[in-house]
Amino acid sequence: MQRYFARIVDRQAILEEDDVFHLTRVMRCKVGDNIEIVSDGSLYLAEITHFRPLEITLVRKLRENNELPNHVILIASLLKGEKMDFVLQKATELGVSEIYLLQSERSVVKFKKEEKDVKFQRFNKILKEAAEQSKRTKIPALYRLRDISHLKDIDANIKLIAYEEMEGPTTGFLKIVENIKPKQKIAIVIGPEGGFSNKEVYAATECGYKKISLGRRILRAETASLYALSVIANQLEKQ
Ligand code: SAH
Repeated sequence: MQRYFARIVDRQAILEEDDVFHLTRVMRCKVGDNIEIVSDGSLYLAEITHFRPLEITLVRKLRENNELPNHVILIASLLKGEKMDFVLQKATELGVSEIYLLQSERSVVKFKKEEKDVKFQRFNKILKEAAEQSKRTKIPALYRLRDISHLKDIDANIKLIAYEEMEGPTTGFLKIVENIKPKQKIAIVIGPEGGFSNKEVYAATECGYKKISLGRRILRAETASLYALSVIANQLEKQ
């Protein structure tokens, strides 16, 4: 069943423009069809009760929670093109709660001020669609981090930085993830294509971030995000 994030006014779901197009033209819905609506973190069963203009009426609230039990924060260095889209989409499917886009020293892509809104609009669309596709009731929040010194502003109990020079056994990473307590927030920083500079790693450790290895091989930045979040989600959903 199709799922859409929408506003609710008097038990009517108000879809965004692209979603109206998708539902009516792509999915070719008819009066009487059911869809799922997410609003403010709650899930509802809804019914198409009128066409042209489209009317969607809530039927009942559904019980379902596909969110991870802990708050997971990905701090991902800005990556070029499709790789950034890939990281945003996969991080959403893997249950991340917040994503910070970090302007790293060696990020090939630089965040130009005037571009921010257009880029964020496109990135937020990727997050929303991935949250709908993966049947989540939450769209990850997206923020920008000017440089690594702003890590200190991030509120997390467990703070990790995946450092490629730490290549080796992943015991440290696994032990930390296995010992996550309920309600604890875990944050992990992933570097750009060119890796972290020593200065950045030092700054991160000064902010309480612990260096961890993601294994013996050097992973591409987009692989590293996927790997790290998979390990965390796997551990959190084992219970
Ligand atoms: N400069 C590297 C590439 C950096 S990989 C090269 O030799 O090409 C991009 C990011 O992925 C790193 O900054 C780090 O955050 C993460 N990463 C990749 N492999 C890793 C590993 N084995 N252990 C820890 N982090 C790793």
